[in-house]
Amino acid sequence: MGTSEIRKIIHIDMDAFFASVEQRDNPALRGKPVVVGGSGDRGVIAAASYEARKYGIRSAMPSKIALRKCPYLIFIRPDFKKYRDVSNQIRNIFFEYTDLVEPLSLDEAFLDVTENKINLPSATLIAKQIKKKIKEQTGLTASAGVSFNKFLAKIASDYCKPDGFYAVTPDTAEDFVEKLPVEKFFGIGKVIAEKMHRLHIKNGYDLKQKSRRFLTAHFGKQGNYFYDISRAEDKRKVNPYRLRKSIGAERTFPEDIFNIEEIYDRTEQIADKLIERCNKTETYGKTLTLKVKYSDFKQITRSKTVKTEMKSTEEIMKIAEELMKQTNLTGNSVRLIGLSVANLDNKVKTETEAFQLSFDFK
Ligand SMILES: [Mg+2]
Repeated sequence: MGTSEIRKIIHIDMDAFFASVEQRDNPALRGKPVVVGGSGDRGVIAAASYEARKYGIRSAMPSKIALRKCPYLIFIRPDFKKYRDVSNQIRNIFFEYTDLVEPLSLDEAFLDVTENKINLPSATLIAKQIKKKIKEQTGLTASAGVSFNKFLAKIASDYCKPDGFYAVTPDTAEDFVEKLPVEKFFGIGKVIAEKMHRLHIKNGYDLKQKSRRFLTAHFGKQGNYFYDISRAEDKRKVNPYRLRKSIGAERTFPEDIFNIEEIYDRTEQIADKLIERCNKTETYGKTLTLKVKYSDFKQITRSKTVKTEMKSTEEIMKIAEELMKQTNLTGNSVRLIGLSVANLDNKVKTETEAFQLSFDFK
């Protein structure tokens, strides 16, 4: 690899973002186990403060389980408007250095600073400046990872959280990856990590011993990615514009629903919510997807594309009803219903909302 090809990538990740914003704004919450999310029977944790994490509480954990781990847990309803404002503040700091900013969610982004607006050759110095500015302007801490590709930068930012900084240089990268447990790899989730463990792949070193053929045989196309990252290689570019591809609304019910009329009623409420979101962003779509999760957790999706964008609950429901007829709703109990529109008329919009969380409405 020629020197000219080496990129300088920073990954910035806010620490316990939603929970930290709440603790910042309410001193009574500081030093306490706080989570953002619904507290109802089927609520899910969206973010946990570091105090809550000491009890083993993590984001995406059902609230019920979290409460069992910590009965004094404090639940806060999410305030996405507030999180989005802070997120924009942080993003503006990034733009002082580079326009090559790829947000992964409200609290995380990749920055390519190979060439940057202040002509600073050191990505480490830039990352440290950004961390300092975030602290000064928002009162919050972030962790930063620096490396020569996205995969390594992302892992580096996670390496010494919270308020951390870590750099992986080209001469330390292979050693770093060899020692890394596979569950820490960016792009390897719990299910794949477990499968790797069954194949006696525990860390980067083990992964590197496997051939491309072996990995694609076991993991499909993803096997190629695993082959590359075990060699610290990742050619993916930082994509500055991530168009929003879909808008959705979904609901997990407090109790499973059997009654078909009730299912229709609930679906209409979800359609209302969906249109509300479309109106807010003035973004409408031509493809509607219905998602149904049954009480046995089996999930089906059905989609239909129409000629013009759907702009009202009635238009959504007309298609939703057609899709419902294609699913086996009678005699089945339903746990979750979701509606989303894609094929959006937002070709010029660049807003990112990579997250779609479902909360109970209690
Ligand atoms: Mg974060």
